Amino acid sequence: MSRKLIERSVIDIMNRLRGDGFQAYLVGGCVRDILLGKKPKDFDIVTDARPRQIKRLFRRCFLIGRRFRLAHVYISRDRFVEVATFRAAVDPDRAEEAGFAANNVYGTIEEDAQRRDFSVNALYFNGADASILDYSGGLKDMKKKVLRSIGDPAQRYREDPVRMIRAARFCAQLGFDLSRPDHRAAVACASLIREANAHRMLEELYKILRCAAASGTIQNLHDFKILPYWLPELSHEKYLHTLLPRLAALDSRRSRGEEVPNAVLLAVLLYDLLDEALGERRGFQDSFSMLHQRYSELATRLRIPRREWDSVCDLAARQPSLARIPDPRKGKGFEKRFLHNAHFPNALLFFELQVEATGRYREELNYWKERASRVPHDGGGHQRENVIHGQGGGRRP
Ligand code: ATP
Ligand code: MG
Repeated sequence: MSRKLIERSVIDIMNRLRGDGFQAYLVGGCVRDILLGKKPKDFDIVTDARPRQIKRLFRRCFLIGRRFRLAHVYISRDRFVEVATFRAAVDPDRAEEAGFAANNVYGTIEEDAQRRDFSVNALYFNGADASILDYSGGLKDMKKKVLRSIGDPAQRYREDPVRMIRAARFCAQLGFDLSRPDHRAAVACASLIREANAHRMLEELYKILRCAAASGTIQNLHDFKILPYWLPELSHEKYLHTLLPRLAALDSRRSRGEEVPNAVLLAVLLYDLLDEALGERRGFQDSFSMLHQRYSELATRLRIPRREWDSVCDLAARQPSLARIPDPRKGKGFEKRFLHNAHFPNALLFFELQVEATGRYREELNYWKERASRVPHDGGGHQRENVIHGQGGGRRP
């Protein structure tokens, strides 16, 4: 395996651990991505050193986690490498009572490999001689482009149903097929997704929407029959028909590395429901309140934070105004307020995605983009979420 895609500082951390007589390997997504010729987004190191021993070796090192302690070793002011001690397999009984985090037993590298989810996520790269340790057939699966659970897939999905969601995402992201036994197990275990921890599921949802393969992931979830148990409101064919092209528009932005705020991500997912509820036109304030209330149960079930939900409803309620060029006889007051509203950039970004997905309202989009480019503080609809929130929520358009 080529060491070129591995940052120098990561190699240094592994050398340091080995210099003190410990084992040190890269593992997980970074090894998988490097073998596929992609640049990894972060690096995970595993070692037989215990957390305290890791801490002693590095100056800028913090131990995190309560049940399972692991180390963050900083390689710059805001970037760190995760260094974890080998862990043994999850005991399914304990996993059930306290979730994935209950797994707090250190183990050998073989045990560490067994507890991981998929064979291609359990490859260990030895920085000393650039060799790969493969305890689960991951290299073969990588060549065949197959995503395969380690062990019995049905048992692994029962242990942690979130793995099914990860499977759908990895297959779409990597262009892999799910193994046949895994596919059967996922369909059989689909309903268990209702019991998964809702906060973890929201995190997975954001990961899906940001992974640049959201459209394929949602199709896979539909194919694995999971969607009706997770997002029943969206699993209807008529919604998928409009949702998938909108996700594809989002994916093409994300593949160019463009930032998309959470509220816009959620709007991309939920807009067909919101739009249906909006129905005939009414004022902004009424639309906003109606959406907010009509889907408050959904927002609560998905654990969408209150502020994020406000932003989603706000940008949705602004869409009808974006779909029209204001009448010049009515004066510039409305337009000025609309353009300067803190939520406008989100609303415009979503509108643009919708235009890309449907091909409609191009002229209106050009009109608003041209107007927005003259507003000094807004970078044409690409502000970051915290900036938008930081300006406070003037509700009126
Ligand atoms: P990504 O590119 O999305 O970060 P990743 O494979 O690095 O992919 P992480 O969520 O960062 O995924 O997890 C790192 C590693 O931890 C995985 O590669 C896998 O070996 C292990 N892992 C993560 N979640 C689970 C899980 N639910 N069950 C078993 N092993 C897991
Ligand atoms: Mg990762």
